[in-house]
Amino acid sequence: MQGIKVPKTPKVWNAEPCPACNSTDVRIHMETDELVCLKCGLVVY
Ligand SMILES: [Zn+2]
Repeated sequence: MQGIKVPKTPKVWNAEPCPACNSTDVRIHMETDELVCLKCGLVVY
């Protein structure tokens, strides 16, 4: 599993599903404002 970096356009990312695999199993790091998909490893920052 490798993290794919995708730039985030809107600032609003609350409980959005993963844009890659549409999984809702995502974790949001409040400190870094990153969304990490626990399924495919996508990282949206
Ligand atoms: Zn995903």
